[in-house]
Amino acid sequence: MEYIAPRTLDEAYRALEADEARCLAGGQSLVAMMNLGLVAPSRLVSLRRIDALRGIAVQPDGGVRIGAMTTHAEIASLASSAAGPALLAKAARVVAYPAVRAWGTIGGSVAHADPSADYPVALVAADAMIEIGSTSGTRLVAAQDFFRGFFETALARAEIVTAVHVPAGPEGAGAAYAKLSLVVGDFAIVSVAAIASGKAQLAVGGYGPKPIRLTGVDVADSALLAAGQALAAATDPPGDHRASAAYRRRVVPELIRRAARAASTGPPA
Ligand SMILES: Cc1cc2nc3c(=O)[nH]c(=O)nc-3n(C[C@H](O)[C@H](O)[C@H](O)COP(=O)(O)OP(=O)(O)OC[C@H]3O[C@@H](n4cnc5c(N)ncnc54)[C@H](O)[C@@H]3O)c2cc1C
Repeated sequence: MEYIAPRTLDEAYRALEADEARCLAGGQSLVAMMNLGLVAPSRLVSLRRIDALRGIAVQPDGGVRIGAMTTHAEIASLASSAAGPALLAKAARVVAYPAVRAWGTIGGSVAHADPSADYPVALVAADAMIEIGSTSGTRLVAAQDFFRGFFETALARAEIVTAVHVPAGPEGAGAAYAKLSLVVGDFAIVSVAAIASGKAQLAVGGYGPKPIRLTGVDVADSALLAAGQALAAATDPPGDHRASAAYRRRVVPELIRRAARAASTGPPA
């Protein structure tokens, strides 16, 4: 297997055109998949030396552009009173544990698209856009269209996630992320990301092949529980080694209520 570490995006795009070439970001998922024999890249293209993929740029309206190689730890330390960026920071704080947060990147997590991961659900709730680059240029895809299914995204061959764009969110809105897992640091059984200012916009993760979006939900307890019960009745969540489908249906209304109620208290003073 060949390993290369280009310094520019153009070099990386060209290097990815080889058959079975793969990006290497933090290696937290890819190396595990290689160890298990699930993937066998012919070439690893490390993104680590590409400065253009680093950093968080705060926009004039309070939204952020987060470079793909930004680590979970860096996002966790983002202090913002704007709901969208605050939601991403809250999700980053409950990804795994410190060692994984120090190495894992948002670009790697987004490209990997684990249905139980924390960023996809937060990005869909925040109406974020995924920035994708290739030799043909750059395109932006809405998060809700980017995540297409079980570990499946809108990325084409030799494309790189270069950044995510997270809008500020409604003026005065709050954000919250509720994650239920077997133990602290594990992937979610079910998680709910919420932004609320009067009405809530939500996404539910761990509950199907990709995040499920709910918008315009009233933040009264009864309305939130009813929305969760309607979702449970209308969907067919997975059963796996973490929890049964019935358990996921049972907990989703209360997680929706908790996330939306917490978000509805508004931004930090
Ligand atoms: C023990 C453990 C616990 C974990 N717990 C959680 C958790 O609770 N919540 C959670 O959300 N995640 C969890 N993770 C996953 C973690 O967040 C990973 O960091 C993340 O899934 C992958 O990021 P990475 O930078 O390590 O990517 P890598 O492992 O390097 O790459 C992952 C995949 O994405 C591709 N890729 C990487 N970067 C790009 C890019 N910019 N453009 C295109 N393709 C790219 C790679 O080719 C590969 O296919 C856990 C991981 C471990 C090891």
